[in-house]
Amino acid sequence: MEKIKELTKGKAKSLFTTSNDDQLIMHFSDDTSAFDGKKKEALLGKGTINNQFNAFIMEHLKENNVETHLIDVLNTSDSLVYKLNMFPIECVIRNRASGSICRRLGTEDGLIFESPLFEFFLKDDDLGDPLINDEHIISFGWASIDQIKEMKSLTYKINTILSKLFLDSGLILVDFKVEFGVFKDSKILLADEFTPDGCRLWDSKTMKKMDKDRFRQGLGDVVESYHQVADRLGMNVKLD
Ligand code: C5P
Repeated sequence: MEKIKELTKGKAKSLFTTSNDDQLIMHFSDDTSAFDGKKKEALLGKGTINNQFNAFIMEHLKENNVETHLIDVLNTSDSLVYKLNMFPIECVIRNRASGSICRRLGTEDGLIFESPLFEFFLKDDDLGDPLINDEHIISFGWASIDQIKEMKSLTYKINTILSKLFLDSGLILVDFKVEFGVFKDSKILLADEFTPDGCRLWDSKTMKKMDKDRFRQGLGDVVESYHQVADRLGMNVKLD
């Protein structure tokens, strides 16, 4: 399958049309951004590790009955995916407090929640991806009540599956963000990516950060840490 035309260019990925109207090629670039695009850098090899990391996680979710947009890995930094109608919202689950919730509610970093905390955010960099709730989603028509229920239930299911996967490799899944879209037959599929760019992973013994917080906080060894996580998961990452 060949790329025909760039359809969208995001901060770390691009989507290209293909000869099949229902399928797109998702290209993972080395570009890395944080703080709504205010901090930017190209990190050599990040696209390669993230493409393969994402495929490993999506395959694992598929084995656990979560349907995703991933069709096939094409090469080290490209994957073939279904073309979806994306919801303009981000679904976040937090098992522990870190990042924006600490700033918003003055919560201590690392606090373990009584039960996983679900939050919706609007995908809008200019507005700083504001926190929204079900009422906003319904009133603005971004999704229906049933679609909201389904997205929440899938995100909780993903949390259960992946928390176990990571913990078995000595990593705490602190929080993560996922996005969903609708395939032509109205089925909701997990879309976008699941990589250390979109989650927080801490070493369960040392609490060392192994995710994009290394970039946000200038801790260094970003791509190296992603590879360490991949090694722990038993992934066989191909290099360019
Ligand atoms: O920034 P915040 O603490 O709300 O992020 C929660 C989780 O969602 C983190 O794992 C972060 O990496 C992820 N996230 C993301 N993309 C965003 C916002 C958050 O991947 N636009």
